[in-house]
Amino acid sequence: MENNKAKIIKKFQKGISLKKYTTFLIGGPARYFYLAKTKADFIEAIKSAKELQLPFFILGGGSNLLVSDKGFLGLVIKTLFLKFSIQRDKIYAESGIPLSLIVQKVKGKKLGNLGHLAGIPGTLGGAIYGNAGTKKLSMKNIIERVEVFDLKGNKLKIFRNKDCHFTYRESIFKKKKNLIILSAVLKLKKEKSNKIEKDFKKHLNYRKNTQPLNLPSAGSIFKSYQGKILKKNLLKEFPELKEFNKNKMIPAGYLIEKCNLKGKKSGGARISEKHANFIVNLGKAKAKDVVFLIKLIKNKVKKKFGIELETEIQFLGF
Ligand SMILES: Cc1cc2nc3c(=O)[nH]c(=O)nc-3n(C[C@H](O)[C@H](O)[C@H](O)COP(=O)(O)OP(=O)(O)OC[C@H]3O[C@@H](n4cnc5c(N)ncnc54)[C@H](O)[C@@H]3O)c2cc1C
Repeated sequence: MENNKAKIIKKFQKGISLKKYTTFLIGGPARYFYLAKTKADFIEAIKSAKELQLPFFILGGGSNLLVSDKGFLGLVIKTLFLKFSIQRDKIYAESGIPLSLIVQKVKGKKLGNLGHLAGIPGTLGGAIYGNAGTKKLSMKNIIERVEVFDLKGNKLKIFRNKDCHFTYRESIFKKKKNLIILSAVLKLKKEKSNKIEKDFKKHLNYRKNTQPLNLPSAGSIFKSYQGKILKKNLLKEFPELKEFNKNKMIPAGYLIEKCNLKGKKSGGARISEKHANFIVNLGKAKAKDVVFLIKLIKNKVKKKFGIELETEIQFLGF
């Protein structure tokens, strides 16, 4: 048994810095690290971690993630299996494939409605996990089914769209850590090429104009607040709230900006001047700098608006 364990552990790299595997460019090392280049290798690595009672973490593109400065004392398994095929209006893709690659590949096939996803970094697995997207389109709208490895009983399962329990930046995979995403089938609409091109340009330009894409970040730190603000004094001071109340969705960036937090710095991290819901790494940011700013934002927004903001990003090693 001990021999077997040693054999398994030999497959893993040791002490790998996770910094370069995240878009934040922040974080300490993983005790063990494994690049899963095929679905079979991926499942083997997960089973091995279970057998060794080693905590493990599935890493996609690391674009929605803050890794602690001390790193992670377990096994990080990075998804690098990338099989992909298109048949008429359906796409089969493995979970390690970058979302941007899918979006690019279908663009030329007159398959539309993916413009909203253009410019979202990360992998298909990460996107399904967090039901990534925009206000108008998220994975919920295009996923037909997901192939899952269930750690409970080590079984392969198929989840239909409704089994995934997609809601705003949520899915069953966020709630049940025993469910690991292996691949998915996406169903798209036929669309005219010129409409697709226009749609892409519009969304990419919007991102360029509103997001600090020149500096490392993890995208939106907080989810929008899903609810209304009804306090009379606040409605008077911030009339835009009436409009947001209609959709029961108040952008976190708006709330943060109204607390005058844009540009606030801690160490090497800063609340973006361009988009208040982005924290950017100015070069040498530590996870503790980001955590400080997250706490500051939560406290100020709670004090001013009575709202408990919920983080959208995931945390590893805290
Ligand atoms: C500049 C910028 C803009 C962004 N814009 C948007 C946007 O418009 N909309 C949006 O929704 N998000 C946005 N994001 C956030 C991020 O890109 C998405 O959340 C993305 O889908 C995360 O995918 P990932 O592969 O990087 O996941 P990671 O960050 O690697 O992981 C996120 C979580 O998913 C889990 N996970 C990953 N793969 C699997 C798997 N195969 N099985 C089970 N769990 C898995 C991880 O364990 C982790 O808990 C943006 C980020 C940046 C940096």
